[in-house]
This record gives sequence, C-alpha cells and structure tokens, in this order.
Amino acid sequence: MNYPLFSEWHTPHGLPPFEEIKPDHFEEAFIAGFKQNNAEINAIVTCPEKPTFVNTIEELERSGKLLRRVEAVFFNLAIAHTNDQIQALELKIAPLLALHEAKIYQNSKLFERITQVKQTAIGLENDQVQLVDDLYKGFVRAGADLDPENRRLVQKIDTKLATLMTAFGQNVLKESNSFELVVDAPSVLAALPEWVRDAALAEGHERGLNGQHVFTLARSSITPFLQFANDRDLREAVYRAYTGCANRDNAQDNKVILSEIALLRAQRAQKLGFADHADFMLSDRMAGSSASVRGLLDQIWKPARQRAVEEAKALQKVIQEEGGNFSLAPWDWAYYTEKVRQQRFDLDESACKPYFALDRVREGAFAVAAKLFGIRFILVEDAPVYHPDVNCYRVEEADGTLIGLFMTDYLARASKHSGAWMSDFRSQSHLDELVTPIVINCCNFAKSDPCLLSMDEVRTLFHEFGHGLHGLLSKVRYPSQSGTNVRQDFVELPSQIMEHWATEPEVMLQYARHVDSGEAIPMSLVEKLIASEKFNQGFATSEYLAASYLDLAWHEIGEDIPDVHALETAVAKDIGLNEAIDPRYLSTYFKHIFEGEEYSAGYYAYIWAEVLDADGFEIFRANGIFDTATAGAFRQHILEAGGTAEPSVLYRRFAGHDPLVEPLLRQRGLD
Ligand SMILES: [Zn+2]
Repeated sequence: MNYPLFSEWHTPHGLPPFEEIKPDHFEEAFIAGFKQNNAEINAIVTCPEKPTFVNTIEELERSGKLLRRVEAVFFNLAIAHTNDQIQALELKIAPLLALHEAKIYQNSKLFERITQVKQTAIGLENDQVQLVDDLYKGFVRAGADLDPENRRLVQKIDTKLATLMTAFGQNVLKESNSFELVVDAPSVLAALPEWVRDAALAEGHERGLNGQHVFTLARSSITPFLQFANDRDLREAVYRAYTGCANRDNAQDNKVILSEIALLRAQRAQKLGFADHADFMLSDRMAGSSASVRGLLDQIWKPARQRAVEEAKALQKVIQEEGGNFSLAPWDWAYYTEKVRQQRFDLDESACKPYFALDRVREGAFAVAAKLFGIRFILVEDAPVYHPDVNCYRVEEADGTLIGLFMTDYLARASKHSGAWMSDFRSQSHLDELVTPIVINCCNFAKSDPCLLSMDEVRTLFHEFGHGLHGLLSKVRYPSQSGTNVRQDFVELPSQIMEHWATEPEVMLQYARHVDSGEAIPMSLVEKLIASEKFNQGFATSEYLAASYLDLAWHEIGEDIPDVHALETAVAKDIGLNEAIDPRYLSTYFKHIFEGEEYSAGYYAYIWAEVLDADGFEIFRANGIFDTATAGAFRQHILEAGGTAEPSVLYRRFAGHDPLVEPLLRQRGLD
C-alpha cells in the first residue's frame, strides 16, 4: 500500500499532497482506517486493567488518527472540489462511515468502561470531567443504553439517514447546476450594474457560452439579479426556479427523501426516549429545549413581523408611484427594496463594490486579527493545494511561533457546493504532542477579475474568518474538544462577532480602498453603509425566523409525516408570515437541516448566537473595539477554550454576565 493517504506527508507543514491523492485511493484508505480504528477500540475494551481515565478515555482520544486524516481530505474535496467519481464514492462511503461510528457507540463493553470511569474517577481536571460527561452522553444519545434489538434498529436508522442526507445534498447541487438563464434583452442588460453584467459574462465564459450573460441559482448570481433586473417576468422565472429547487417531480426531487429523513429522525428519537427529534437534538445544546428556542424566536418575531408590514407598505407605494398595477410579490421584494434603499440612503452598491476587492478585504480581516490578537498571516507560495484558486497562509504569533495553516478558497465553481463554510484538514490538540491546525475557509464569490465583493459578501468573508480563528487559536488538550467542536448553538459566536469589525469605520477605512486608485472609501459612503444596515431588517429577520420555525416544525412531528407543501403552508399561517416573504429556505433545498444532522432543529442557532455576539460586541464597544484586554479575554475564554466547558460558563467568564436579548434588538433596529 503505497498510497499517499497512508504514508507520512513530506509536504510543507504537513499539508495533504493533493497532487498525488487520486479518487481511487480513498476507498481502500477508508477501509484501512476502519480496521485500524477497530483494532484500537478492541485493545481498549480487552485491557485487563480496571477502567481508568487514562486507559480508556485518553486512549479513545488517541484512536482513529488514520481515519480522521482520510475523512478530512475526502470530505473537504467532496464539498469543495468534487467530481462524478467522488460523488459516487460519497454515496458508498457515507453508510459505511455511519455504520463504523454506530458500532463504536453501540459497543457495550466500551460503554461499560466509560460508565465505570464516570462513576469512579476522582481528581480529574475540568476539561477531563467535561470530556467524560460529553462522551458518556454521546453514547447514551447513540443508543448504548438500549437493549440489543432497539440498538440494532437505531443503527439501521443511522445508516439509512446517512445515505438519504447525502442524496438530498447531491440533488440540490445537480438542480442548481442544471439551471442557467441567458439574458440577451438589451433593455434588461442595460439596467443591470456593470459588475452584475461582468459576473454574468464570466459565468457564460465558464460554461462555454462566450460573450453571453448567464445567471445561475447561486446566491451570488440570483441575489443581484433579483435586486436589479427590471423585467418582472424574468425575475419571477428566476425566483420560481430558485424556490422550486429539487421540487420539480423529476429525478432530483427531494420531497420523498426529506419526508423519509423526518420520519426516521422521529422514530429514532422515540426509541432513544425523547419526545421528538427536536427534543433529542436540543438536549445537547446550550438552549436545552424547544420551549426555550421558541421563547427566543417569539420574542424577536413580533417586532420583526411588524417591521416587515411597514416595509411592504413602503415598497407597494413605490410600485404604485411607478404606475405598477400589481401587489408586491416575493420576486419584487429585493428589486423595490433596492429602489427605496437608493432613495433613502442614496446608496448604490455599484459605488461601493470598487472598494471591496477580494484581496484587500482578506488583508483587512487579517489586519483585524493582528490588532486584536497580535497574530500574523504569511502567504506560503509553494503550498500544495487542490485547486489553483486556493491560497495557503502560515499563521504565527507575534514572536514567530507557528499557530497553524490557514487556507482560503473563495471563488465559485461548478465542482463546489454552494454556500460558505469553515472546515479543517487537521484540528489542534496537545495530548501527547502539539498538533497544529490546518484550517480552511470556503466561499462562493462570483469569479471575475478583479473580484469585487458586495457588502454582504464582505460580511460573509469576515464571518467565516471568525470560524477560522476559532479553529486556529484553539488551545485544548483533547482532539474532540478542539476549536469549533462546541455546542452547535454556540459555534456561531466567534463568526458572528467578527462581522462587527467588517463595518466599523476605522476598520473599513483601512481595507476598503479603491481597486484602481487605492484611495480609502469616502467617509460619506461608510456612513451610508452603516445607516443602511438596519434597513430591510423586517424582511431579513422574518425570512430567517420563518426558516427557523419551519425547521422546528419538521422536527417536532411524530410518525405522521405531513405533505411538504401542507407543512410549509401551516407554518406560514401559524406565525402570520407576510405573503410577499418566503422562508429563507424551503424544505426541498433546506440543506442546513436535511443534508446533515448538525443544523437539524438547529437553524435557530444563528440568532441564538447573535444574542451572544450583540451582547459581546457591546463589551468591546464599551472598552474600545481593539482593546487588548477585552480581546485577550475573548481569545482565552472563547477562542482557545473549544469544548472544554459548557458555553454558558465560557460566556460568563468572558462577559462577566449572562447574555441579554436587548442588544440584538437594538442591533437590528427592532427595539
Ligand atoms: Zn457560520
């Protein structure tokens, strides 16, 4: 077995040797990883000594190295640079992996040892106590406490779910890639800003349609189209293509798949002793229960809904003033909002974009981290990467000590899943030796030269960078507590708080420099950008909350699975959703909740974390946004701490109090 996945990597900083790794290598590597991991587990359970923290829990933390390495390379490629071969393999590997994990969690001898450690261990340090507790809970949640018959059933459900969730994501990708709209009407093209036309031309070029303006369902393409296209029918067509994604009764339709996912989740929850899937998921979150999630959502929903009514009225007024004889529809919202935005703030995006060149924005994010934490990002020119659009940086402390590697993969392409995310090829830990992290940020900015971002995209870049710092600055002993391995409704705190710096005037004046002249963005433009932040928050908050309610609804049902459309309608009616607003995602392409488990019954987590980030940033604002003592406390108690303690404890250590909801309402202008 000479495959590069098995041997030591003699690449700069231990990066995966991407050029040598071929799709053919993965299957065998996964099998070897399973085998090695099984042998390690077997050694733990057959250990003749009585179970201790060291011979059981720490050994578990040491196990699975090869598998983790293969998984990291494979799944990062599967999501960021896939092809038919990798996709086929993904369908094959996903159930095997689920089965492998299920076997570990349902190993009764192993569970017995963990239980004994939990009951008898004394003198453990805090991170060790947390580790044992989480591990024990994880086993119970996976069915370790069940009788063999039910355990088998849960295992079967897990395996089936893995396949279904993979198929769900692949259908969305296929559907998104299959849509393209070629716009050639001069009157429509003329009304689009130059940067929108340029991106559409670049997309045409990419798809072999040279000289044609092509729009796709990627958010970076559809959002500006809906914002600026003056042809109402075309807007409607694009909007319907987007909201009808994987809901066209063809081979990529997700309705049956997602209903089955919801059913299996409900069945599994009941087997494990929970009322429903939401109950099951939330028992492992900072929120704790559906009731506390709904409590928060309802508190924000009321003012958001009221604000959306006012916004809709203002948009309808513009329609009438222009002689339009129709009621505001979902495909009109962005278009007329843009007009009101320009009237009210005299702010047009085209004027801002030249100040947001991708490279400068990235440097801006690095500069913020440098000022806050004293760390440096240095480009590694010769780093092996899996695609020429990827950059790799060496991250150092001020004294030159290596922290880890940071990769950025910012541009959209057909081989990449949509959206933006942070992931890693190796996570930090220092159990026997220091392992430095290799972290990656992926986005889907439309490729053009120069690549100019919108304000939203700038925020996305800072957001993912915040996750990146959580992975990079991690300072924990045990791999399973590393970086972003925290409760799922806590993980967005570092990313969302980082967005605040993106729009602080003193920061923006540094990184937002004109792509041609190099001049700093005019203060008048900065002020307009900031003033417009609270604009359209009724809509933005409503579409987000509506998706959160939809997510909860799918996961609070029992075994009577409703029709997809019926459930969506019921949720909208129940909360009184404005007719001209759809949930941010409809069920058939709601990847957060159906492509994986993590965000199921968890889409609320963004606003849960926003309560924390709004509250947290008020502390920075009070002390100075670059106050080193505040930054130091944030680094120590949040970024370095990973999952070594409960989030509420970590937050109190940083802030000195429990988070309040009022800063969030103020931040969104909903107070
Ligand atoms: Zn995030």
